[in-house]
Amino acid sequence: MTPKSAFPNTADAESIAREKWGLDCRAETLIGYEDRNFLLVTGAGDRWVLKISHEGVDEQALDCQIQALRFLETSPLAHLVPRVLPAADGRCLIPFEAGEGGPCWVRALSYLEGTPLANHRERPRPFLEEIGRMLARLDLALGAFDHPGAHLDHGWRIERAHEVGRYADHIPDPARREIVERHLDRFRSEVVPHLAYLDHGVIHNDANDYNLLVRDNADETPVLSGLIDFGDCLHTVTIAELAITAAYLMLDRDDPLTTAAHLTTGYHSVRPLSEAEQGLLFDLIIARLCTSVTMSARGLHIEPDNQYLQVSAQPIWRLLERLAMIDPDEATLRFEDACTSSNTAARSADEIVAIRRRHLGHNLSISYSQPLKIVRGRGQYLFDQDGRRYLDLVNNVCHVGHCHPHVVAAAQRQIAELNTNTRYLHDNLAEYALRLTATFPEPLEVCFFTNSGTEANDLALRLARAHTGSKEIIVLDHAYHGHSPSLVEISSYKSEGPGGEGLAEHAHKAPMPDPYRGPHRGPDAGERYADEVRAAIAGIEAAGRTPGAFMAESLIGCGGQVIPASGFLSAAAEAVRTAGGVYIADEVQVGFGRVGTHLWAFETQGVVPDIVTLGKPIGNGHPMAAVITTKEIAASFDTGMEYFNTFGGNPVSCAVGLAVLDVIEQEGLQRHALEVGARMLEGLRELQTRHSLIGDVRGLGLFIGVELVRDRETLEPADTEAERVIDEMKRRGFLLSTDGPLHNVLKIKPPMVLTEHDVDETIGALTEVFATLQ
Ligand code: PMP
Repeated sequence: MTPKSAFPNTADAESIAREKWGLDCRAETLIGYEDRNFLLVTGAGDRWVLKISHEGVDEQALDCQIQALRFLETSPLAHLVPRVLPAADGRCLIPFEAGEGGPCWVRALSYLEGTPLANHRERPRPFLEEIGRMLARLDLALGAFDHPGAHLDHGWRIERAHEVGRYADHIPDPARREIVERHLDRFRSEVVPHLAYLDHGVIHNDANDYNLLVRDNADETPVLSGLIDFGDCLHTVTIAELAITAAYLMLDRDDPLTTAAHLTTGYHSVRPLSEAEQGLLFDLIIARLCTSVTMSARGLHIEPDNQYLQVSAQPIWRLLERLAMIDPDEATLRFEDACTSSNTAARSADEIVAIRRRHLGHNLSISYSQPLKIVRGRGQYLFDQDGRRYLDLVNNVCHVGHCHPHVVAAAQRQIAELNTNTRYLHDNLAEYALRLTATFPEPLEVCFFTNSGTEANDLALRLARAHTGSKEIIVLDHAYHGHSPSLVEISSYKSEGPGGEGLAEHAHKAPMPDPYRGPHRGPDAGERYADEVRAAIAGIEAAGRTPGAFMAESLIGCGGQVIPASGFLSAAAEAVRTAGGVYIADEVQVGFGRVGTHLWAFETQGVVPDIVTLGKPIGNGHPMAAVITTKEIAASFDTGMEYFNTFGGNPVSCAVGLAVLDVIEQEGLQRHALEVGARMLEGLRELQTRHSLIGDVRGLGLFIGVELVRDRETLEPADTEAERVIDEMKRRGFLLSTDGPLHNVLKIKPPMVLTEHDVDETIGALTEVFATLQ
């Protein structure tokens, strides 16, 4: 701010310095916000700063600053803070009558070398931690200091941040005003009640990047050289020190939460943060930012042409808008991590990509052109390393919600007690076998436990072969059943895709029973597709063989979220059985209530398979899978060769499996999937009426596909558009993926705890995204 009068100029400063301090010096103007500051250079080259307050400034507040600095002279921080130079008469604060408004107060401080941190973009982790440590030392030192001037009313007192809300009307942009009002409301109700219980003390209260001074090391790494301007120091919640510095140092950083986390790590290593402080830090950071932008808006209202206020608020708004996307609980977890894992440096996404490129096989793709580093999951949400929250619309494995506490506790309890193999008797195995088989219609009553969907399907093939004596299998076009050789060779999705060697001789393809794009459409499509299976059977028989199995997903995932034409599965199953084969239902993706009306997707077509394979959601992410079959088929497999699976059915996996079943039942997730899925389908269908790009919306429960086409007649696939939708949705915090042979189907198969609110938000975001596409 510019001085209101011509006084004081450099000549005034020189004469005050000479008269009161006995310093023979030259004065230069320095920047100052509250005080008018002058650099004094003596003939001997000594440098001091003369600070002249405005008229009528509270002497007590100034004295508090002086006493705080003097107090710090004997602390380990003495070299980092200005030293007070008493005047010739011993006083540190000299009144100077300059006009009507009361005295100006003059004081002299040592000049600290360095340039403001604001001028340094490079801020490596050790440097940020060093700042954190310095702040903690400062707060510890000032913990023993107090002064009446530190208790004065102060507009920037963090514990009263919510009161600046009364100026929020001056924020012209309604969306921005809403951010501030929302945060301040939260601050009032969820933060203020806890503040009284936190440690209090005198703090600097404004260690921003203009008040932190830096020197460059020989290797150009920054070194902290000082902290200036104690003009805001006051007695408040101690942790505000860290919050305020973090708020300013997070501005315009690529990864603001990481900046705050590094500061926190350093701070905590010197002055350990209490749990409550860790829990409130994020809100306090935001509170400071809200105070700052609201005060700026107020200032602009009073002085509309003030360029400084206009410019300086912009990075703060940008940060506030970013932080508004971050779940406060997640930010707290980051800070808790920062306090516990001070030594294990988290790797950046780029570093991890580089390590993967070097040490992992390259035929493993990473989702998204800008890969996500997901560090935590909860319910239907995933969080990246920046604490940004994503609604997970695609990971059906974490069926009952990421890291469901009941499942986590079951695993933790059991792994702490015993984990061994199925050659010992264990209650968990017995209980799980009973509970799981009870969910199947008769005669499915025997189960085998494996570790992955692939293993389950591989075992299903063995069971079918043992029972029928035939390897011949009928599969659907574009099907995927697993990554072992036995499954790749019957999965057209793999064997007929890039790098594939074609289907095995014993695998016979029938078209996907796709009622939208496939060769048969209309009311009798199910029967027509079953005819295709019959034709495949005839082909096998014509070669003098018999079919061993017909294998199909009950709803088709990799093939593009296809709901088989009605009646197809029962007709195909009957045809294959009549010819001597068995029907294997692959429920690896779609089982456990996802379809809403039933627990198992095959039930939606009124058919009972001979063998069912389960995987993915069965353990909510824990690697386990299962095969359920009839006792006759199991007996055929009992050839004398033992089936032993080291990990399959172990006590931990069974505990997890039981816990997943508990949650599905206790939280009514099957019914929930039906309701929430219906709302999603309704929203998507409404969107379809407005966008011709949406060719088909299909789904059962929370297994949904949206097929994009450029032309509703020719069904020209809109693959690049689908890719755009995925990217745009990701940008908005929603994770989706595409699939289908033509890569034009949006897959929606979220954790089953998705809420109606999530659905509305998803539809809202899709509405925006589709509007940009057409
Ligand atoms: N069957 C289906 C239908 C699948 O989608 C998958 C996995 N994508 C598998 C089997 C194989 O399961 P896993 O990756 O657990 O081996």
